[in-house]
Amino acid sequence: MKKALVFGSFVVDLMARTPHLPKPGETVKGSIFKMGPGGKGFNQGVAAHKAGADVIMCTKLGKDAFAKVAEEAMRELNMSTENLFYSEDVETGSALIMVDEATSQNKIVVVLGACNTITDEEILSLEETIKNCDYILTQLETNVSAIYKIIELAKKNQVKVILNTAPVQDIGHDLYKSIYLITPNEVEAEILTGIEIDSLENAKKAASWFRNKGVEDVIITLGQRGVFVSSNGREEIIPAFKVDALDTTGAGDAFNGGLLAALTEGKDIWEAARFANALAALSVQKLGTTPSMPTREEIDVFLA
Ligand code: ADP
Repeated sequence: MKKALVFGSFVVDLMARTPHLPKPGETVKGSIFKMGPGGKGFNQGVAAHKAGADVIMCTKLGKDAFAKVAEEAMRELNMSTENLFYSEDVETGSALIMVDEATSQNKIVVVLGACNTITDEEILSLEETIKNCDYILTQLETNVSAIYKIIELAKKNQVKVILNTAPVQDIGHDLYKSIYLITPNEVEAEILTGIEIDSLENAKKAASWFRNKGVEDVIITLGQRGVFVSSNGREEIIPAFKVDALDTTGAGDAFNGGLLAALTEGKDIWEAARFANALAALSVQKLGTTPSMPTREEIDVFLA
């Protein structure tokens, strides 16, 4: 089995459900409060690990109580905590999530904290680890300088980079040539390429746009419709699995973690996309992000 590094954000999700979302200055009595690990990087790392991949999780925490949420979750899942960075003065990231019980609408404030302060020196300290990896999966949620640095280091060591472009933001076009596989959702693909993904034709155009910039393979996730895959001259939609979705937050994270897990097992990109669709379909049937990632056994049962 191949090895992978998942590099990205960690935040503690603090979720409260309320009869209605408070107006400015208003206090509302909520019904349920839940606290748990989250952040796109962490979600994707956990998804890949639970799917059976040999992944190293790397993020940055503060020296505070919220750091323990990450450490304990990783210990419970038997994930190594060796590649965590710590900030002396910036707190662990957090997300304040309010959910309206009636409408499921939400308001979220995310404070990335420590995982937004990853230094070039910290990235450079990963070089030996990176050398032993076949893939690096990262997103756009940590500070951009760290993302650039790790992609540069991956390229130098011939490690394949998978970039999930969430949360979307402009990236320097010179970065694309160092990316093996890019995995935007429809909205992100449109923002990055300027092409609206409203037809198969346009999905192909967007894929060409990325390829012209130097990306090798492209996967555009299409929500409940599945994913568009463009690889090696073949372009197709791999449909999603039909399930009753309960909570689609984190669907993209589940998909990316699943994709990585399948690729490290040596599956081709088509099989990997199907496996990742299954993982994401299982995750949307449960509430939450990190806790909703299925085990390998659940995935195998579902696919059988
Ligand atoms: P994001 O969460 O980043 O917006 P998408 O909404 O495109 O990403 O979802 C990512 C993947 O999750 C999809 O490609 C699909 O495999 C799966 N997925 C999302 N919503 C559903 C759904 N309602 N039913 C089944 N699978 C889903």
